[in-house]
Amino acid sequence: MLRRTKILATLGPATDKPGVLESILIAGVNVVRINFSHGSEQEHLSRVKAVRNWAHTNQTYVGILMDLQGPKIRIASFKDGAKIVLNIGDTFALDADMGESSGTQSAVGIAYKTLPQEVRKDNVLLLDDGKIVLEVTSVEGNKINTVVTQGGILSDKKGLNLRGGGLSADALTEKDKRDIITAAKAKADYVALSFPVNGDDVRLTKKLLKEAGSDAGVISKIERAESLVDEIINDIIQESAGIMVARGDLGVEIGDPQLPAQQKRLIKLARSNDRVVITATQMLESMINNPIPTRAEVFDVANAVLDGTDAVMLSAETAAGDFPENAVKTMHEVCVEAEKNPIARTSHHRLHEDFTYIEETIAMSSMYAANHLGVKVVASLTESGKTALWMSRMSSNISIYAMSDSVATLRKVTLYRGVYPCGIKNMSNADWGKVNAKVIKILAEKDIVRNGDLVILTKGMHKGKTGGTNLMKILRVGDSEYE
Ligand code: PEP
Repeated sequence: MLRRTKILATLGPATDKPGVLESILIAGVNVVRINFSHGSEQEHLSRVKAVRNWAHTNQTYVGILMDLQGPKIRIASFKDGAKIVLNIGDTFALDADMGESSGTQSAVGIAYKTLPQEVRKDNVLLLDDGKIVLEVTSVEGNKINTVVTQGGILSDKKGLNLRGGGLSADALTEKDKRDIITAAKAKADYVALSFPVNGDDVRLTKKLLKEAGSDAGVISKIERAESLVDEIINDIIQESAGIMVARGDLGVEIGDPQLPAQQKRLIKLARSNDRVVITATQMLESMINNPIPTRAEVFDVANAVLDGTDAVMLSAETAAGDFPENAVKTMHEVCVEAEKNPIARTSHHRLHEDFTYIEETIAMSSMYAANHLGVKVVASLTESGKTALWMSRMSSNISIYAMSDSVATLRKVTLYRGVYPCGIKNMSNADWGKVNAKVIKILAEKDIVRNGDLVILTKGMHKGKTGGTNLMKILRVGDSEYE
């Protein structure tokens, strides 16, 4: 059975081992994530090449998302790479004046030098994804004095967050700007922007991508508490191709108990704004070391599917885990089962709203008709993929084939829930009198449709030339006339 929810898998040392990348792609990965937080430009480019080669050989499309590191705030290192143990009640200082590798049992340096000016007494600082909790007791010049309220082992360069958010670090660092050039060089389909504060960060990223010659879609990672304010999140979403519910850092900033409600809210907001959404982090965490997931993880993946996510993401499970292929297979099976639930198939999207665009009207009408007529598939002839995106915002169990001669478009739609890329050659000088028959022929050759099946076809015909979608046609496979 075709899976509608897409699987995004992070590449890393585990997928560099012989045969592993192929195994996860065969198991059903739709989009790979290349994480700029780890590895060299050379490593990133060679992973991109391996994915593109595999897709080419197998005549399929795999999307590539390159994830910018962003201003992850970290502590500096300890003397001789030592690890320290912090116990409840210990005093511990974060000192902007300390050297890079001079941390001790009582204090450590910080790379983010303005932190002492941005925190106050009683603020809560979280280290290493919230495993260690420090309460600020005072700030003396460049030194933040704290008391440990949750202890643990602390080692070099662990991440640091402020509970409630509000740190002013710019979303795009100098490294991110260099990595944008690499993403353009790699012809990435998507670039993920870490820690955007507001829509301006997304606008700047799009500008830099454009200057670098890239038309990658920007996926904004929602991971700052302050970006959740209605006005800000709406601006971020509208400026982006999509968002990622980045549950790791977001959970640390707002507290994990608030995450489920925010996940549901963000997925709904993205979909209602005609944007894609990825649910990320710790989805099958235990599978880093185990061949099977916990039952709670199975529920987590299934619930994200029922919330309406476009894609579910694997991080260390594939990048550094012992069972990457199992993790992808597990995700596939859980998604397929969850999608059988009627909640995943019915939609009230835009039912009581006016439409703005002709293309959107055709997309919505096609899905309405398809859902009510027992249509086998919807085929959308598309240059940009926009009509297929609009269609996929409506929950349904009808497969949407985005048919295009643009490889960039075919790779972009790999992220859209319920949309499958299907190449169709030479559309710019197509014989418009025969294009319907050509579509049916391609779908029949791939065994997607058979004689007697109904197909809804949408296309843009303007005085015999291609253009924005303005036409919907219902065809029966096997009829003598398709035009
Ligand atoms: C997250 O914080 O959930 C996330 C996806 O970001 P990263 O893994 O890049 O820190």
